[in-house]
Amino acid sequence: MSTPRFLSHDQCKQIAQEYRTPIYVYDEASLKQAAEEVLAFPAPYGLTGRYAMKACPNGAILTRFRDWGLHFDASSGHEVQRAVRSGVPAERISLSSQEFPDNITDLVNLGISVNACSLKQVEAFGEAFPGGKLGLRVNPGVGSGGTKKTNVGGPSSSFGIWYELLDQVEALVEKYSLQVFRIHSHIGSGSDPDVWVKAVDLTLAQVERFPNVTNVNLGGGFKVGRMPDEVSTDLQVVGAPVKKTFEAFAERTGRKLHMEIEPGTYLVANAGCLLASVQDKTSTGEEGHEFLKLDTGMTDILRPTLYAAQQPMTVVPLEEDPDREEQSVIVVGHCCESGDLLTPDPSDPGLLKERVLTRANIGDLFVIDGAGAYCAGMPAKNYNSFPEVPEVMVCESGEIALIRKRQTLDQVFQNEVPLS
Ligand SMILES: *Cc1c(COP(=O)(O)O)cnc(C)c1O
Repeated sequence: MSTPRFLSHDQCKQIAQEYRTPIYVYDEASLKQAAEEVLAFPAPYGLTGRYAMKACPNGAILTRFRDWGLHFDASSGHEVQRAVRSGVPAERISLSSQEFPDNITDLVNLGISVNACSLKQVEAFGEAFPGGKLGLRVNPGVGSGGTKKTNVGGPSSSFGIWYELLDQVEALVEKYSLQVFRIHSHIGSGSDPDVWVKAVDLTLAQVERFPNVTNVNLGGGFKVGRMPDEVSTDLQVVGAPVKKTFEAFAERTGRKLHMEIEPGTYLVANAGCLLASVQDKTSTGEEGHEFLKLDTGMTDILRPTLYAAQQPMTVVPLEEDPDREEQSVIVVGHCCESGDLLTPDPSDPGLLKERVLTRANIGDLFVIDGAGAYCAGMPAKNYNSFPEVPEVMVCESGEIALIRKRQTLDQVFQNEVPLS
């Protein structure tokens, strides 16, 4: 019988009793181990490890990562402010955003650094801070996305400044006397060392055009295996040839570049799960399927609907019962929406794919693992007016700490204004 990744049977029951389901649970020990691995990435001339906070932006997670030595990548001005209010020093925050914040002057004056991600952003930064220090997010022309939807480099991606536009960037840099101190490229979720080396080569070619560049940020995108048959990136294996490339660059140019990496997924994916309950079952007969209906769904976890993402799932019988047989089922969420499917076929989020699980009774607990990244922070929140779920942390001390309360129904519509 399979077991959840980090929760024991007793912890599942204890959390469900104290806080009810559905609820997100994070494991402090797993977070810490991932942080240590990121900070050990091979870098010959110094490393800054950043946490791409959009993966899971709860302040309790941010402050733990802060205490363990990580810096932060923010994807919007709002994320910058959220991190600062959680107690992250502004000097540790770097902004790379699709939408440039209107209050960029205030944010930069707090002490954050900025990677301009478009020509317009270079111009806007130059106007606000002539002579200022700026990073550039470049699209080097390749990508390696885990799925087509998460590919963030190459000609199909709008992220960053397309490498052929750098002439225009150079003109703006001159116009505003900017100092380009960092080149940033984030090419998407991959685990192939060859693709990484190719991306690093292309990125370093851009560095040669900017003599003031001291930092190279390689982004995130280190693939994590969530399902048992998926492999995780070995940071030491991917990093070894990257380190050599930095060393060769230094030998050739005399420039010893400080390396930055900024994973989101890698730091949190397997350190979080969604603890739910089986609230109903149905069958559609001989030609159909057996369905398990959970008390959670796309309102709390959207990756299966959005990407046909595969998440490990475990039925946790209320009383331990090692003799229960298995059953092939379709797992669905609680929304009145056919897209609220938790076991999609990996090729298409709209296709059903049966999953073999321990036979479940109504009322059993149910754990969706691999749910630390892009889950609690990226839901179809409040659809069908389901309130946002709480989050707890299983601390290294064994204590289970509430880090986000369950939303109340009033909070779901508190900003509505009735028509008179
Ligand atoms: C989202 C993002 C990351 C993190 O990506 P992962 O695939 O979660 O590692 C890093 N850098 C930037 C700029 C991002 O937008």
